[in-house]
Amino acid sequence: MELSAAKSALFTLPMLLVTAFMLSAGKLPSGFEHWLSFAAVLAFFNTCFFMILRSGKTDRWRAPVFIALSLSFVFTFIAHMLEVRGTMALKDSVMLEGGAPFCHVVIPQTLIPLLVSRTVIFPGTITGGYAAIGAMLFLWIGFSLALGRGWCGWGCFFGGLDDMFSRLRAAPVINRINPKWTDISVAVLIVTALASAASLSPEYCKWLCPYKAVTEFPAVQNLATLIQMLIFAALFIALVIALPLLTKKRTQCGLFCPFGAFQSLANRVNPFEMRVDTQNCAKCGACITACPVFAMTQESLAAGKTRLNCIKCGKCADVCPKQAVYHHVKMTENRPSLAQRLMFLFPAFMFLTTITGGMLLQAVRRIVHFAGTGSFC
Ligand code: SF4
Ligand code: SF4
Repeated sequence: MELSAAKSALFTLPMLLVTAFMLSAGKLPSGFEHWLSFAAVLAFFNTCFFMILRSGKTDRWRAPVFIALSLSFVFTFIAHMLEVRGTMALKDSVMLEGGAPFCHVVIPQTLIPLLVSRTVIFPGTITGGYAAIGAMLFLWIGFSLALGRGWCGWGCFFGGLDDMFSRLRAAPVINRINPKWTDISVAVLIVTALASAASLSPEYCKWLCPYKAVTEFPAVQNLATLIQMLIFAALFIALVIALPLLTKKRTQCGLFCPFGAFQSLANRVNPFEMRVDTQNCAKCGACITACPVFAMTQESLAAGKTRLNCIKCGKCADVCPKQAVYHHVKMTENRPSLAQRLMFLFPAFMFLTTITGGMLLQAVRRIVHFAGTGSFC
């Protein structure tokens, strides 16, 4: 659904105002570095939003911002850890002193033990204490009610890594992965949540999270921490780099992540979904091939919808030659419309830029500073 340049600019104006306010926190930037990074990030966000509207291609222009979110997260996280601790390795003393940040992936492992035993589990106390946990939970609940598993396409600060690697090759080397393999992520969720409830410790974080390889990891001090580190590195290389390159799919998000599996449930309660106009569909299968998380299958296509694990990225709609796939507001008329597309795009892109803004601004500022001084801080 392409729009004219004038209409695209008109609909981008509210996004420009919101992102300008959010990036500046209501204050004018001070100094050349701040101004330059502010202008660059503002222009980047709003060019992408304008192009989503102008070109009618949601995923093509969502992806640069989503990938920038992950890259700037990893860059700023590592820089911060090195400045504060001098290392990315996490020692017991750091956890006990409250130096561990809170990550959304731990939520299913904390909620189930909380319901079962009324105990809040986390490895040590957390940077920012209850304020940090409260802010993350508030963000997660708001996002889940608004966009469901759209979190994995528009809000997760890890997902852009396997999204990026899944785009680097023009064609996949491995073509056939059974969509039923997405059940692995459900199994990981159930096993780690029950194990966490039994041990009162977040077992997925301790043993299976691939992103520990690029954020923070336990200092290797004994055989157990050595095994943990080897598992993190192997899973990161396999699920976030190698398999996305070979399959052009987001294998960590689609096949393994327990938070993604948990978040699929939120797709039941939010107002948006992807629909297929079965009358107009040519049954070419392009949407099935393009879907990065195995959410479109022959069965779902025939039923005119996606599977429950859809992340609402819009890639299926981008590739459809008949414009038969579209963002839809539940309980409204079943046909593509600009109003429905805008109703989805505004909150989705606003969430994405809200989560990305601070980290990307900081990353660009550090790069600008490096260009001028040779130092990142
Ligand atoms: S079905 Fe479409 S919108 Fe949903 S995850 Fe797959 S490509 Fe993205
Ligand atoms: S890409 Fe479009 S036309 Fe092709 S199968 Fe999917 S919905 Fe039908």
